[in-house]
Amino acid sequence: MRVLDEALAEEYALVESIAREVLRGYGFREFRTPIVERTELFVRSVGESTDIVGKEMYTFEDRAGRSMTLRPEGTAPVVRAVVERGLRNTRLPLKLFYIGPFFRYERPQKGRYRQFHQIGAELIGDARPEADLEVIQVLVEFLSACGFSGLEVALQTLGDDDSRSRFRAALLGHLEPVRESLSAESQARLASNPLRILDSKADADRAAVADAPSMETFLSESARVHFERLQELLQDAGIAYRVEPGLVRGLDYYTGTVFEISSADLGSQDALVGGGRYDNLVAELGGPPTPAIGFAIGLDRVCEAMPESATSDQPRVAILALSDAAEARAAETARALRRAGLVAELANMTSGVGKSLQLADRRGSGWAVLIGDDELADGLWSVKNLASGEQQSVGDLSALVELIQEGSLKP
Ligand code: AMP
Repeated sequence: MRVLDEALAEEYALVESIAREVLRGYGFREFRTPIVERTELFVRSVGESTDIVGKEMYTFEDRAGRSMTLRPEGTAPVVRAVVERGLRNTRLPLKLFYIGPFFRYERPQKGRYRQFHQIGAELIGDARPEADLEVIQVLVEFLSACGFSGLEVALQTLGDDDSRSRFRAALLGHLEPVRESLSAESQARLASNPLRILDSKADADRAAVADAPSMETFLSESARVHFERLQELLQDAGIAYRVEPGLVRGLDYYTGTVFEISSADLGSQDALVGGGRYDNLVAELGGPPTPAIGFAIGLDRVCEAMPESATSDQPRVAILALSDAAEARAAETARALRRAGLVAELANMTSGVGKSLQLADRRGSGWAVLIGDDELADGLWSVKNLASGEQQSVGDLSALVELIQEGSLKP
């Protein structure tokens, strides 16, 4: 588990605010589910044979002897909640997003944490490829707003139930004869989830799947049409993508379109985002059959990889009351500057003006506003740029704010 200190927490908050703005612009509304859920929810939806359920969940018994789990992912809790609320009376599509901590007992390594953070969205009740495009578009817009360039969408379809069961049979036909050459993990997956062998990183498995049959051959007509239409839509929208045959995603509830987005600037590390369709999950959790698609952004990953330029620093100002009489006006000035979006701190004057200015500079204030008896008498503010040492007087608050926001003292 990791502490987010004040510098990190501010960065996270900034990225979260970018996400909120972009998602709201597309009509998504924020949703918050409990951190702790019944274990059963994840076993049923994410799937028993997945790494998450098999070995990564923080599971414990509560005082009533029920098995509870710290949520390892966000889709199942959101879907369960909207199913419980009643989907039949909901005007679809339902467009929701969530931001918060998630928990997986993973081997600690760079960029993977046991408490990590995701921003996720779910578009429930729209089966069209246009819905797939919309969630990918939101993501591209969000990542661009964070300063990432060279974004690439890796795309695949897992087909509908029919396509998938035919593909599964063909894949088993290909892998069973070479069972002995597979990694132990993949041998176990032959029975539980053979598609996952396709994204195994083990050399032995890679060799075995190199000439495996491809999903494409087994797609039903409607699954093929959907996938082709999505590719046309992406091209029309100018979004770069590539079809990635090995992309299967690690959770059982996925159906149809799956995708990951990475940035070409980042080399071969983890994807920033993963997502896909889960057209059966709503019904599996007790709702009416309802198609849906969603994604989860790895917030930790985004913050670590985000280009510096996107992190915005609010201008910081120290306010110095040079006499007791000036204190009320100094406090009033600080409030006005804060309302204008600046960070304003009242200086502790016990050590004198020189020391206060020095301290303000060390604390990262770019500016000091000085208010003494002269400024009080004349209704002025003296503003000092702490980097250059230049100082000037201004006669009204809006000019003061403007001067600081523009970042330079005019002659
Ligand atoms: P997933 O829910 O596994 O599809 O992951 C979605 C995104 O969450 C990935 O792109 C990762 O960046 C991020 N993520 C998943 N697990 C962790 C973790 N343990 N630590 C940090 N980020 C994670």
